[in-house]
Amino acid sequence: MSLAQQWRDARPKVAGLHLDSGACSRQSFAVIDAATAHARHEAEVGGYVALEAAAPVLDAGRAAVAALTGFDASDVVYTTGSNHSLGLLLASWPGERILACLPGEFGPNLAVMAANGFEVRALPVDGDGRVVVDEAIRELVANPPALVHFTALASHRGVAQPVAEFVAACRAEGIPIVVDAAQALGHLDCNVGADALYSSSRKWLSGPRGVGVLAVRPQLAERLQRQLPPVDWDVPVNLLQSFEHGEHNAAARIGFSVAIGEHLAAGPDLVRARLAEVGRTARTVLADVSGWRVIEPVDEPTAITTLEPTDGADPTTVRAWLIAERGIVTTACEVMRAPFEMTKPVLRISPHIDTTLDDLEHFATALGEGPNGH
Ligand SMILES: *Cc1c(COP(=O)(O)O)cnc(C)c1O
Repeated sequence: MSLAQQWRDARPKVAGLHLDSGACSRQSFAVIDAATAHARHEAEVGGYVALEAAAPVLDAGRAAVAALTGFDASDVVYTTGSNHSLGLLLASWPGERILACLPGEFGPNLAVMAANGFEVRALPVDGDGRVVVDEAIRELVANPPALVHFTALASHRGVAQPVAEFVAACRAEGIPIVVDAAQALGHLDCNVGADALYSSSRKWLSGPRGVGVLAVRPQLAERLQRQLPPVDWDVPVNLLQSFEHGEHNAAARIGFSVAIGEHLAAGPDLVRARLAEVGRTARTVLADVSGWRVIEPVDEPTAITTLEPTDGADPTTVRAWLIAERGIVTTACEVMRAPFEMTKPVLRISPHIDTTLDDLEHFATALGEGPNGH
């Protein structure tokens, strides 16, 4: 049976067409059942006792993140999402607060950076928004920021950054680099040697909402300063333990552990290849829909395709129409999603590996039909 068919069979039947894994993918039966079983166990033996019993499952989730990213399992902590991970990391940053990031940086990330007192500088990019590695390194070396924050794959545009090459170049110059892998984990190769990396459960790994992960190399963790409890309190809590401090939904973390285990079992390289194929097919099918322009190069190895209106359609209105009238789930990306790069809102599709040519043609037809269609 094909990978696509296995992925589809492992989940509840979809109502309509789900082209929205960049926002929130569909969980499998096994993931839903694991989270449910944990909630039941909490009711039977008590939430804290159940959590202790689930330690091996949570450790397996950390080990799976480590396997996908090239960190050690002991470098990985659970958070509630990518933005939470970034906030934890930046709040604990010592010394000067200047970072370099892409002009297409995710709006909510920029908010977290600003809230933590970071001044932001733009990395040089080409016309697609892809970092120009040589030029970037020259600028970084001439005027080093405290760190580089690098979003390997954006939310508003399916352009794969040359993440392995850029991380290697930054590390060779001794510039710490933090990778936002919210869209990249389970989608692109993230085993690239970053100093820190974070991601979300619910996107391409199809885990539950409300879970994220953060991995920090020991050499960087040593330099960061614990915030909670305050660093001058003489308590035996190290940095990574302090990051995991706080109330959380254990059942959701267990669901995530199962989801990432399923991803490893499916074969991350096969999933990546299939996502690239789905993206290429989507851009080919959508190239001729009138009133819309596909932003990405057709062969971009990602499953994210964005469409810019050329006839004045409003992506938010179109998204709502597609759900209400056609049962098709997409995302409308407002300019605030990448305020220094986007000039117009776009409609995004982010189909997972089970999406067929038929599905994409069905979407293209629907898009051509309305509400501004013919
Ligand atoms: C979704 C997303 C985030 C934020 O993730 P949360 O889990 O919602 O906090 C950060 N960066 C990018 C590129 C994203 O797509």
